[in-house]
Amino acid sequence: MHALHIIQDEHRNLWRIALTLEQVIDDLHGSPRSELAFFYAVFDYFDQFVDQAHHAKEDRHLFCRLRQRTELANAALDQLESEHRHAPARLANLRQLLADCLHGQTSLDTLTTALRQYTDDLKAHIRTEEQQVFPLASQWLTEQDWDEINQAFRSHQDPLFGDEARAEFRELFHRVASLAPVSVGLGAHSGGELAAPAQDWLLQVEQMESAYGRIQALKGISLSVRRGETVALVGANGAGKTTFLRTLSGVHPLQGGKIVFDGEDISRLRADMRMRRGICQSPEGRQVFGPLSIEDNLRLGGYTQPKPQVASDLERIYSMFPILKEKRALPAGTLSGGQQQMLAIGRALMGRPKLLLLDEPSMGLAPLLVEEVFNVVKSLKAQGMTLILAEQNAFSALALADRGYVLETGHITLTGSGRELIENEQVRAAYLGM
Ligand code: ATP
Repeated sequence: MHALHIIQDEHRNLWRIALTLEQVIDDLHGSPRSELAFFYAVFDYFDQFVDQAHHAKEDRHLFCRLRQRTELANAALDQLESEHRHAPARLANLRQLLADCLHGQTSLDTLTTALRQYTDDLKAHIRTEEQQVFPLASQWLTEQDWDEINQAFRSHQDPLFGDEARAEFRELFHRVASLAPVSVGLGAHSGGELAAPAQDWLLQVEQMESAYGRIQALKGISLSVRRGETVALVGANGAGKTTFLRTLSGVHPLQGGKIVFDGEDISRLRADMRMRRGICQSPEGRQVFGPLSIEDNLRLGGYTQPKPQVASDLERIYSMFPILKEKRALPAGTLSGGQQQMLAIGRALMGRPKLLLLDEPSMGLAPLLVEEVFNVVKSLKAQGMTLILAEQNAFSALALADRGYVLETGHITLTGSGRELIENEQVRAAYLGM
């Protein structure tokens, strides 16, 4: 792969770590102790990979070659190289501050200010490289230069996101995957987009209306989902959650409003075309095909996919749900409720969703199985899947969601982060039984 793409990929990951750090800093409140492992993993990752591999290779190969070809980049390179040189000392300083804070020798405010400054500087550093240095490198470096630079970067082994990710960073990876969206809008030479990751909407629904004959089930629902986000849709029986998901996936007609998915207006597209675009649904009540084998049920989920891909996708689903592999030749109707739910989720995953819709996955399950289903949802979220989770089990859904919407008789009455909604008095009284 071309070195610039490798660096941009690494920048994208660094940006995600910065976003995750910011969220953790915001949540620090009283004691940073519970976050010790997280901070140390971040610092170790920066030490071992960013400073020693990423920066060193930029300095030695990319920046050095660019200086030889043009003086135009010198000011930016001076600044970047100086930041690289000071990076290890800065990390050591942060470690010390963290230790001091834990021993009560410095205030939490001092620590959080230093950490925020660190993430701000990290983002500014990435922007300078992407906006100022990369365009000049593309313009001035020769093919021979690139051969050498590409060679150097190809041997990179990222211990967090790479093929040989190391166990000590697993926790950090999951944290980053679940807190920061996968795509944050970085692109070749367009560091400007970095300022607006919040705009990276995968789905935007405006004023959705839907009816059953004269019964107006949805009365103007507006809702958006960012890439990599888990959005919970909570509300009582009959509030309109299922109707919303069915109207979104196209199995129920849209009466009014607009649905924009991945930049395209899909309001008039048929359900199968929406599925091909990447909207896949695990329906309420599972709706597995009882007489068909488990494997055939899964294959049905992959019917829009190219054939050669289906076999490997099946293996992926089986490794996620080993029980389905064990029973794959049996009729789906012989599975327990919890297993049928796994099958319904597996079937939706076979469509390679960009957006996975889960309708009441915990419905009718015993408490232990409910927990298991939510663990599956958590692991999908940790892998960076974008999810809408409709649930009557509001607490569990909001606890794992990034954001939530409360639906009442076809209207959205409240929206906020999962945590804000859990703490909201109205929600606590109406849905959480508190
Ligand atoms: P539940 O958890 O019970 O499924 P929900 O929030 O998913 O609730 P919907 O099933 O979307 O709610 O129902 C929204 C409204 O539409 C309700 O007033 C319901 O009675 C009505 N409704 C749903 N399905 C039909 C149908 N097939 N025919 C007529 N009305 C319907």
